[in-house]
Order: sequence, then structure tokens, then C-alpha cells
Amino acid sequence: MAYRVTLIPGDGIGPEVSEAARRVIDATGVAIEWEVREAGLTALESQGDVLPEETLASLKRNTIGLKGPMTTPIGSGFRSVNVGLRQALGLYANLRPGKSMAGVQSVFADIDLVVVRENLEGMYTGIEFDTGTSEAAEVIGAINARSAKQIDPSAAISIKVITAAASRRIVEYAFEYARANGRRQVTAVHKANIMKFADGLFLREAQTVAARYPDIAFNDRIVDNMCMQLMQKPQEYDVLVMPNLYGDIVSDLVAGMVGGLGVAPSGNIGPDGAVFEAIHGSAPTHAGKNEANPTAMILSGALMLRHIGERAAGERVERAVADVIAAGNEVTYDLRRDRDPSKAATTTGMTEAIIGAMAAS
Ligand code: NAD
Repeated sequence: MAYRVTLIPGDGIGPEVSEAARRVIDATGVAIEWEVREAGLTALESQGDVLPEETLASLKRNTIGLKGPMTTPIGSGFRSVNVGLRQALGLYANLRPGKSMAGVQSVFADIDLVVVRENLEGMYTGIEFDTGTSEAAEVIGAINARSAKQIDPSAAISIKVITAAASRRIVEYAFEYARANGRRQVTAVHKANIMKFADGLFLREAQTVAARYPDIAFNDRIVDNMCMQLMQKPQEYDVLVMPNLYGDIVSDLVAGMVGGLGVAPSGNIGPDGAVFEAIHGSAPTHAGKNEANPTAMILSGALMLRHIGERAAGERVERAVADVIAAGNEVTYDLRRDRDPSKAATTTGMTEAIIGAMAAS
């Protein structure tokens, strides 16, 4: 039986790189029925909503989505597609693998890391009180009445929330991912030495969960030290799991270590669904020119294949992408050392080379 997947082409270069991913995934032979739905600027222009109900309904029905990048509409008042999707589908885990590929320019080599970021709480609850408002004054007053340390009345306040349940769930996800993907170690990243209650709770839950996975090694690192160690001895690390803000930063750090935007895939996973996407944006200046790099979107498709249990197909895609990039002939301009567009492959040219490499393997 075919898997049903919601495909959201997105804006700018989104339709081109999404089509590339779809062609490569179809070429694996895994039977997928694609349900194409709109979101982003395209949806705003045609349906008056950046995240139409029918798009959400399709994702809820199919539980798996592959999403191209969206252009953020100019002007305020639009709901964020990414926040809307995360909330509606409870996408609590952000999965960001970073693997070096020969042929991609980077300061580092032989990197093979996976960042698992908690996606729904931490510093990103959106609970904020602006400086000088009566709400901020009330919150500051309530805290000052209970705390030996006093907050300046002019402060702006952002609330960080860590719960045991969400901490447990994200660490369990990291261990399950490690097991399913043959990884050897999980590292919990935190700042529990300073934020003893919030990060302390995250760390305690991580230690409790780790005890249930004796087959996977476990350790923990303070986030600043983690960043330094990633620069000095990244090979000592494997799967890294952390609260929202640290995950946002460390996952970009790791993406930078393996060559940046054009090659970095991601997944957002929840109990009722999962949406996979490249981390780059819609790169409007390259739209419609058949010159965008499809790698990140294709590798997001490979993550999707792994997630639905088609691990061998996912690995085939990853190998073919790596082979084409290592050969260096059929790659888009941004993967060329000279960045010369006249010598570069088109988006479709690179896609066909990847499909060819899969057929040959
Ligand atoms: P961007 O990622 O679109 O572009 C940053 C730079 O990288 C540009 O020079 C661009 O040309 C290049 N680039 C990105 N992807 C590329 C690819 N696949 N191939 C070749 N070159 C590529 O970021 P931006 O310019 O800050 O944002 C453009 C739009 O995308 C904005 O509207 C922004 O809000 C949106 N955005 C969306 C997402 C998302 O939907 N997940 C993520 C980031 C930005």
C-alpha cells in the first residue's frame, strides 16, 4: 500500500526543490501518493490564508508532510506557518542531522552529529511582557514579592518554561532515534549549573530516561562547553538533545560545520505527525531560474523515508547525494568552489544525476 504524504511546495525556490525531492523519492521505488497542498505566500495570494485549513487537514489526515520553504509575507498580522504547524500537529521534536560530505566546502571534515531540539517550550513559549506595560509591572511585582533577588521595574520579561513531561518526551525521542538509526551515544545539553530548577529538571529527566536505554551511552554537557568541544573534538559526540533555545543555536552551529544552508535537512516530529523541510528559506532571487541547490530538500526527503520506516531507501538517497557532490561535476553553483553559474548544473540536472547515481548503486 502506498504511503500518503502531503507535499507543500512553498514559495520562491520551494516548488523547484520540492519537485526535485519528490522525483528522487519516487525513484527509490517506495510507493508514495503525494497530496499537494498550499501554504505560505502562495496560499495567502490564492486563498487569503498562509496556512489554509485544508492544508492542515491534509497533514492531519496523512500524518506525514514534506514542506518547501515559505516566504514571510511583508506586514504584520499573519500567523506564522511554522508555529501554526508545530502547534496544530504538536511537533515537539526538531531533528537536525549534520553530516560532512566530501565536496562540500567546510572548515570541518568527518562530522556526523544529530541535534534533537525540543520544539514547543523552553524560551520559545511566546509568553512575554514588554517594558513599561502594566502587565510587566504586575508580573515583576508578583516576582519581587516572592524573590530575594529583585527585578528592575523597567525590565521586559520573557518566560522560560521547562516541564518534566516535555523533557522526558524529547529525551525519549533522542534515544529512540539513536536506537533506530544505529547511533552509539546521547548527550544531554543544558545549563543546569546556573538554571538549577528549569534546566535542572531537564537534566534529571534526561538521566532518568537514559537509565532505561543501557545499550546507548549517555553523558551531559553544559551548553557553552558543548560549543567549545564541538569545535575541538566533534568526533566524540553523536546525538545531542537539548531544550529549545540551545537547540536553535547549536543546530545552526552544526549546520555551519557541515557546509551550511544548502545541504542541511530537518524534521519536525510529533505524536500525530511529522513534517520534513530544508532549513533554508525561499531564496527569492534564485526563484524560477532552475539554479537552486536541491540537496537540503532531497536530504529532508531521505529523513522522511527513514521516519516512515523506509530506512534502506533513505540511505540510498543519502549515498547518491553524497556521491554526486563528491564527484563535483553535476552540482549547483553554490557547491562549486568557483561559484561560476555558467559551469554549474541546474536544479534539474543535479536531481537527474542523483537519480542516476541511485540507479547505478
Ligand atoms: P534564505 O535561506 O532564503 O537565503 C539565504 C542565502 O542562501 C541567500 O543568499 C540564498 O540565495 C541562499 N540559498 C538559500 N537556499 C539556497 C539553495 N537551496 N540553493 C542556493 N542558494 C540558496 O534566507 P533569507 O534570504 O533570509 O529569507 C528569504 C525568505 O525565506 C524570507 O521570506 C524568510 O522569511 C524565508 N525563510 C523561510 C524559512 C522556512 O520556510 N523554513 C526559513 C528561513 C527563511
